[in-house]
Amino acid sequence: MLFNDIVGQDSLKASIRQQIREGRIPHAHLFVGNEGSGAMALALAYARYTCCSNRTETDACGQCDVCKKFDALQYADLHFSFPMASLGAKTEDNYCEQNLTEWRNYLLENPYPTFDGWFNKLSPSTRDLAIFVAEAGKIARKLSLRSYEGRQKFQIIWLPERMRTDTANKLLKTLEEPPEGTVFILVAEAAETILTTITSRTQLTRVPEIDEVAMANALIDRYELDAGRAGNVARFAQGNLNRAIELIQNTGGHLEFLENFKSWMRGCFKRDIKMIDGVINNLYKQGTRKQVEFLKYALHFTRQCIVSNYGLHELASFTTEEASFAKNFARFIHHGNVTTIAEILEESITDLNRNVNVKIVLMDLSLRMNAELHRSQ
Ligand SMILES: [Zn+2]
Repeated sequence: MLFNDIVGQDSLKASIRQQIREGRIPHAHLFVGNEGSGAMALALAYARYTCCSNRTETDACGQCDVCKKFDALQYADLHFSFPMASLGAKTEDNYCEQNLTEWRNYLLENPYPTFDGWFNKLSPSTRDLAIFVAEAGKIARKLSLRSYEGRQKFQIIWLPERMRTDTANKLLKTLEEPPEGTVFILVAEAAETILTTITSRTQLTRVPEIDEVAMANALIDRYELDAGRAGNVARFAQGNLNRAIELIQNTGGHLEFLENFKSWMRGCFKRDIKMIDGVINNLYKQGTRKQVEFLKYALHFTRQCIVSNYGLHELASFTTEEASFAKNFARFIHHGNVTTIAEILEESITDLNRNVNVKIVLMDLSLRMNAELHRSQ
């Protein structure tokens, strides 16, 4: 992963490169970014740029021995920790090297890793993936060895929010006083769920969502989309590269969301239980991640209706198909109900993430939505 391979994030890349060139390399970073923003890709580019034998002002060379090893994620001083499923009764067996081949393959396929993608790759019997205490011991031992390559040693920890408390506690000492030449990069999605004893020992870098224009340009360059489609996909992807790729590969993926949303809103407006039930059953089959994405989509759509209602049609982030539905629908969303609608959608997202019964959550939400759609301005 070169900086050049990363979509958008130009100002962040520039400041990272400058820090490295000036030798301002902290011993522990915390990169925090939403799924698909590129936090892991940046961590990989960071490590490579630091170690490359022939880097330029803007990137690693891509040609030297170091770069070739990085291409295969086989650089001897590049270590990874990541959530895994418990492998058995013995706690000392649960360390990441056991899944290292799967991890390298997964990361080579997708340098924008997602929990669901990794989970599917491992396909364990439980979703309860964690970084177990045995891994903290392994990290301390690995990093105490001399550098194989004669440069910095990197320890990348993906999703440190899944580190168990005993793991975190055991890791603290290494994190605070790492062996010489060691750089930790923790790559997280939700910094607030990581123990403060860990975060306080790291330098925080927030990785923003990918800028819409940069995303659209990348889609034109890499996927040969025409400008109109690239703009639509980028708008809908909301800063998440994985989402954009899903949309491109599954043409009509976002149209499916829109069609579901249209039926749902019609059902809610008319209090047509059969129609609502049809949408809910459709969502039920798709799993939690899609259900949450759908509700986030509804949140986005209703907010854009407000923008559109203020006469700012050109500012509303609607695709062409969405705009044609919004033309009639937007007037039902107004300052008298938009806050409550956002609240009940957010509440339902939280409930779904807590594994509350999906059908009950969505039916309850639909009935409350019915009341809101009939509320006067
Ligand atoms: Zn190089």
